Amino acid sequence: MLDLLLWIALFLVGLGGMEVVAWLTHRYVMHGFLWCWHKSHHSERHGAFELNDLFAVVFALPSVVLIYFGLNGYPLLLALGLGIAAYGLVYFMFHDGLVHRRFPVPFDRQRAFWKKRIQAHRLHHAVETREGAVSFGFLLVRPVSKLKQELASRRRR
Ligand SMILES: [Zn+2]
Ligand SMILES: [Zn+2]
Repeated sequence: MLDLLLWIALFLVGLGGMEVVAWLTHRYVMHGFLWCWHKSHHSERHGAFELNDLFAVVFALPSVVLIYFGLNGYPLLLALGLGIAAYGLVYFMFHDGLVHRRFPVPFDRQRAFWKKRIQAHRLHHAVETREGAVSFGFLLVRPVSKLKQELASRRRR
């Protein structure tokens, strides 16, 4: 029973922790030294893929490694690996499906929960440069009114 609880807790750590990792990576790596990859996502896409998609591959790697060791003797690593993979799936469906409409997803974009997150990410895309963007999170976002204020005050500066 305790093992099961620990397993579930680690799964949730993987799932929730990835939003923090995603925020930090987006803020300091994508809008930092790997802007050369991420830039493609802040400009118009030509074709089915963009250089920014490489981040999905990079993020999938730790999950694949953890799942591998999880299936080969370390079951708790499986929980962590599956938690990370679950975040990846939700992120992909939300960010690429719901917001950027690259493929259809079974979510209702009019629902307040998703609407708020879609608006927040659109505000992130209001800036096409490395500096000056707001809202680096995906599932945990600040109120849209606050983001708009921040964006406006950055533009004045
Ligand atoms: Zn960005
Ligand atoms: Zn985006």
